[in-house]
Amino acid sequence: MGNVFLRVWAYFKLCLPCVSEDTTDSPVVIVNRGAHHAPDPPQSLKQKPIILYFVALFDYEARTAEDLSFHAGDKLQVLNTSQKGWWWARHLEKEDSSGQRLEGYIPSNYVAEDSSLQAEPWFFGAVSRADAENQLLYPKNQTGAFLIRESETHKGDFSLSVLDGKVVKHYRIGRLDGGNFFITPRKTFSTLNEFVSYYSTISDGLCVRLGKPCLKIQVPTTFDLSYNTVDHWEIDRSSVQLLKRLGTGQFGEVWEGLWNNTVSVAVKTLKPGSMDPKKFLGEAEIMKTLRHPKLIQLYAVCSSEEPIYIITELLRHGSLREYLQIDAGSKIHLAQQVDMATQVASGMAYLELNNYIHRDLAARNVLVGEHNIYKIADFGLARILKVDNEDMYKMKDQEKLPIKWTAPEALQNNTFSIKSDVWSFGILLYEIITYGKVPYSGKTHNEVVLMLRQNYRLPQPPNCPQKFYNIMMECWHENPKERPTFERLHLTFEDYFQADLYSEGNNFIR
Ligand code: ATP
Repeated sequence: MGNVFLRVWAYFKLCLPCVSEDTTDSPVVIVNRGAHHAPDPPQSLKQKPIILYFVALFDYEARTAEDLSFHAGDKLQVLNTSQKGWWWARHLEKEDSSGQRLEGYIPSNYVAEDSSLQAEPWFFGAVSRADAENQLLYPKNQTGAFLIRESETHKGDFSLSVLDGKVVKHYRIGRLDGGNFFITPRKTFSTLNEFVSYYSTISDGLCVRLGKPCLKIQVPTTFDLSYNTVDHWEIDRSSVQLLKRLGTGQFGEVWEGLWNNTVSVAVKTLKPGSMDPKKFLGEAEIMKTLRHPKLIQLYAVCSSEEPIYIITELLRHGSLREYLQIDAGSKIHLAQQVDMATQVASGMAYLELNNYIHRDLAARNVLVGEHNIYKIADFGLARILKVDNEDMYKMKDQEKLPIKWTAPEALQNNTFSIKSDVWSFGILLYEIITYGKVPYSGKTHNEVVLMLRQNYRLPQPPNCPQKFYNIMMECWHENPKERPTFERLHLTFEDYFQADLYSEGNNFIR
């Protein structure tokens, strides 16, 4: 994966007094809320009932009789935005048999206001550098494929990512005081559209001339099954068909299912007695509000009788643990391992920001989707499962139990915190770098607890770079307060290779 980040911004800041000064050195919040979250209605729509036109960014297939199907590029008129995440819209190009324009609910994160920046095929919103690389490296994109994204580290700035052969290169787009955009100050543009038009005709210092916009391969997750499960997400279990068993965990089975004959979902069926339904519903209430592209979305539950069903987003490639083990290092290399760590840290930074604790972070609870997407599952569930530490020691499948992932203070006093999650993240890094090896292999849980009391830490695995191991060791600091935040961990992994370039003195590389 090409990780050459072009630090032209730093260079021009040095050379040009007229460039607006950005002194943001402190860590910034990197949580990826922007493009993936159900946007609030545009201000103009909230205020007065004027007609607003939207353009579809992705294909959408109706899930209920009240939904409206559309294709990417279709024009829609939004008529009502009162339902969060789902708007009532009129299709401007499709009519029913009586000549009436078709109307129905649409997911609001599938459309953008016509002629807005968000509607441009090359604008990808708040996409991270690693995700931009994954999307550009999709085989159907060719040299010159590009996207413009909002910078995560410099709020309000934009970055250009371009595919050059097999390498993705990134340019920070500078702004003059007057707001003009530039890569080099000898050529500035009043809009990003002008910027794109210019570099589509001539490379003028870029690695290549801009070609086609990057294909939008990642269809966003809707946050609900449909408009009518937004508030009523206790659903009838007869609306869910269980199609194929995907796996079995300590507390039940996971099935691939189909809701309403239209939406593919994952269904976790909990063994009777493993959870108090009331407690579960209380927690699910919070889990439902957590929305982030690196977290598995909770869609709905069937909790009125046992077994409880937890209905979530489906990720096709199953758990990260198995994914790492199957490949065992023949195809997965350091860049992808760092990407896994970056994506998980991004999701955890969101939980951190929302004061939420996972309690069972491990490779078995990270799921793998299409196009190298990794998402965190089962957050919060551990708190309400009817298991205490005593039981954990006694349980049969020692390999899967979280003792070896749990921070010493959580084992000793049951004090779970986001910092005990950071400890678990360190163990997850061990799993990533060893291709799914069980930590403290061959040791019983009691032995591990004793070893940790004596300040023992997992040794550096043979193929693990020192830099990667140093991060693991920071996560295992005895004092929870000294462990890094997930925000910091995200930035560290996001810049993992970039930092190497700096240390070699390369501030801007082409
Ligand atoms: P434990 O119960 O100890 O947490 P586990 O995480 O392996 O173990 P489950 O969460 O029940 O157990 O998951 C069992 C398997 O089902 C996973 O390993 C994974 O392969 C599959 N699975 C779980 N959730 C999903 C999902 N949302 N999409 C696709 N596959 C899933």
